[in-house]
Amino acid sequence: MADKKGTLKAQLSVVPPQYEKQGGGQAPEAKKFTPPTPSNMIQLSAHKCAAEDCKQKPARAGFCDEHYNWFKEGLLTLEGYKAKDFDKKYHSMMRRKQQAA
Ligand SMILES: [Zn+2]
Repeated sequence: MADKKGTLKAQLSVVPPQYEKQGGGQAPEAKKFTPPTPSNMIQLSAHKCAAEDCKQKPARAGFCDEHYNWFKEGLLTLEGYKAKDFDKKYHSMMRRKQQAA
């Protein structure tokens, strides 16, 4: 969201200063300006890990580091949904991790 605001602010600051003299701080032309939201929406979703409820930045294949591991282990589908036997796979992964540590 911060990115989107920053872009909008940058766009508005392009409005020539004479508008401020005419409208006493109001810039009518700037109000009509509509930011190109569709492309922003796509970017926003791409900045989030594909796993449910995860707000990490994606590192690989749309997943954060941890969930990319889950995806590799077959715990998550490419869309970020849990596998049918998620619990079983999760426990076997944790067991393997503990043995490796
Ligand atoms: Zn994640």
